[in-house]
Amino acid sequence: MARQEQEQQQQGMPVKKDEVIIAGMSNIAYSYAKCCQPVPGDDVLGFVSADGVVKIHRKNCINVSNENLLKSERVVSVSWNRKVETDFLAGIKIVGEDRLGIMNQLTTVISKFDTNIRSISLNARDGMFVGTMMVYVRNSEKLSTLMDKLKKVPGIFTVERLIS
Ligand SMILES: [Zn+2]
Repeated sequence: MARQEQEQQQQGMPVKKDEVIIAGMSNIAYSYAKCCQPVPGDDVLGFVSADGVVKIHRKNCINVSNENLLKSERVVSVSWNRKVETDFLAGIKIVGEDRLGIMNQLTTVISKFDTNIRSISLNARDGMFVGTMMVYVRNSEKLSTLMDKLKKVPGIFTVERLIS
């Protein structure tokens, strides 16, 4: 856990690991957008910020879905390096029935899936809860498998990727 926390802090800074391939540019600094937290396998694009650092967003992120922005030359195409073996932080939003033991069931599913949880919070109201979980995953495929497993927990209504 401590090691991954450290890696996560580094991800907030411009890094020069070859986790992604940025079209038409070499040796460019990039970082992952916190709003949509892309993981390998997601459709992504890069947005060149004023300081020259490429911010990588998921294509369906509300912050980059603006058409004028997408036409602009500050947008660059980005693909994942298939050899990446880093765990990425992803956010999941869970809505379900507020009942005793639901938190335990969710964390059990995640721990069986061999995934580390960075944080989890549940807000209950009127017999329902809305939960936010931050988990470490290798890629989008693993993340969807995990989300499918969470959906199967009795009393869970929806499980979706978090976009802030
Ligand atoms: Zn974003």
